[in-house]
Amino acid sequence: MNDEFKIKFRGVRGSIPVPGKNTLRYGGNTTCIEVRVDGHLIIFDSGTGIISLGQEMMSTFMAMDENVRANNPMNAVMLFTHTHLDHLIGLPFFTPIFIGSTKLYMFGAKYDDNDFKNALSMSMHSPLFPVEFDNLHSMRDVKNIKEGDVILLKKGIKEPEIQNIFRPTVPFPDDAVKIYVHQSYAHPCDGTLVYKIEYKSKTMVFATDIEGYKSPDSRLVKFSKDVDILIHDAQYTNEQYNSSQGFGHSTMEMATDVAKAANVKKLYLFHHDPRHTDDNLDAILLETKKLFSETYMAMEGEEIDLFI
Ligand SMILES: [Zn+2]
Ligand SMILES: [Zn+2]
Repeated sequence: MNDEFKIKFRGVRGSIPVPGKNTLRYGGNTTCIEVRVDGHLIIFDSGTGIISLGQEMMSTFMAMDENVRANNPMNAVMLFTHTHLDHLIGLPFFTPIFIGSTKLYMFGAKYDDNDFKNALSMSMHSPLFPVEFDNLHSMRDVKNIKEGDVILLKKGIKEPEIQNIFRPTVPFPDDAVKIYVHQSYAHPCDGTLVYKIEYKSKTMVFATDIEGYKSPDSRLVKFSKDVDILIHDAQYTNEQYNSSQGFGHSTMEMATDVAKAANVKKLYLFHHDPRHTDDNLDAILLETKKLFSETYMAMEGEEIDLFI
């Protein structure tokens, strides 16, 4: 079997979902990215984009013979950048979370005394939602993670192992999927987590909801050095940024500054402003390509195969 490392955009929009005729091509769902790597399913964030992924997982699961299904439960590693609503609002509608055999390994940041699990629980809590997070049928392993942590997915083993780059124990196996964690402080109020996935020679970084106050963000440049794919927040045009400084989002130019300084192979602009129509995004892409030619616009439904 060929090596597998595929990235699929399920939701690329920032702040609020924007369905409608002006967003049909790039999509109107909020943040969710599906990554399939070496047999593991990794899901970034649970904006409204996660709903279609859940429906597809359910169709595949239900199509199996009952005996086969018993030995092939739905399984995912879920990595959360932060818990603002546009990154969380799809979770109560992610159908696999209601199925008893589903196993979800969920990772996110602890802020102050608030464990990540508490933040998740708030999204499924009466009177906002009829089912309490703790009463869901699925098996959920929720853990706090922080800068320097490395989530290892070893070949053929579903359960992740947590290591830390500051406290190496044994060398990481060459054929493991390695997920590195970086803390950004450039998003109100508590910052966000940025992730790098490395598998064999291929790498990607997901950096959404960050603001390049001083462009380029030198810590992010170091974290993203030479990666194949950088998915970077690019919510604002320069003009929009003038009235939105401090909101925790970047301009296209800030994204290209990081891409150039880090020598990434391809840059995907992400977290599109809900005001931007498909035609606006086409125009922005043309302009941004002048700054960094290998720039692409993240588009809902698009899949990137890193081993092609
Ligand atoms: Zn957001
Ligand atoms: Zn946010």
